Amino acid sequence: MKVLNFGSLNVDYVYDVPHFVCAGETIASSGRGIYSGGKGLNQSVAAARAGLPVYHAGSVGPDGGILVDTLRQNGVNTDFIKLQDAPSGHTVIQVDPNGQNCIIVFGGTNRMIGKDHIDGVFGGCACGDILLLQNEVNNGAYIIQKAHETGMTVMLNPSPFDEEIRNLPLDLVDYFVLNEIEGAGIAGTEDPEKILETIFSRYPSAQILLTLGMLGSVYYDGNCVYRQAAFPVEAVDTTGAGDTFLGYFTYGIVKGLEPQEILRLASRASAITVTRKGAAGSIPNLEEVLRETF
Ligand code: ADP
Repeated sequence: MKVLNFGSLNVDYVYDVPHFVCAGETIASSGRGIYSGGKGLNQSVAAARAGLPVYHAGSVGPDGGILVDTLRQNGVNTDFIKLQDAPSGHTVIQVDPNGQNCIIVFGGTNRMIGKDHIDGVFGGCACGDILLLQNEVNNGAYIIQKAHETGMTVMLNPSPFDEEIRNLPLDLVDYFVLNEIEGAGIAGTEDPEKILETIFSRYPSAQILLTLGMLGSVYYDGNCVYRQAAFPVEAVDTTGAGDTFLGYFTYGIVKGLEPQEILRLASRASAITVTRKGAAGSIPNLEEVLRETF
């Protein structure tokens, strides 16, 4: 089974600042890092590090070489990434001395995915049995429709949540993977039980994975509800926790693991991620996850 992730690719420009810049102010940054990121890229890296064959489809500009390199270094197939004559998606991130951040995101080529590109990805090849999709690329509705027509399983992570999500053909989604904010956005309630009930009542054939940060995760597989506590670790940076969880959850589904085992594995993997700084770079591989004893 192969995974096709039609997902975002962002260059993250991270600046260390004494405080977040205010209106009219100019401040000096004491450090700068340039990293590969974007929910799409992080999830492809997570699924590949778990051990799945992953194809990443998306779009970059001339400044996106670092993104394609990161995917390739992690064994992700990049044949369906289109080069366009426009800036790649990128973020400008200020990090203050307390580790708090504030972020500007520019969609760039992530928001320039054309229907001809999508047709090419789904038309020519059997490049995936499962489609992963987030909410950072345009034409999401068309991507879901094409995947469904091709007979693929559709896994949607409606992140970041916005009202556009409601325009997607959500009845074609086989797996919803959400955190509390996205769950509340879709279901209109913050209560985890009610989020599951509401999504199930609207889309009865879908399975639902809800992650709850330090409170763990809940999975409804169409028959039963499974719960898993988060592993107690000293978190230094929770960026990428959800993306790691999704990558390992996909691995568990593809390998046909028992639901409780899937949750344990994905929780263990994301607990490791939060003990390290960064996003894609902090995602563990399967060997590390299996070695971990907590
Ligand atoms: P997102 O990154 O999408 O907001 P969550 O914050 O819900 O996702 O985190 C996803 C999973 O990562 C959680 O279900 C949990 O298993 C794990 N996790 C998140 N934060 C922590 C933490 N501080 N300690 C241990 N595990 C964590």
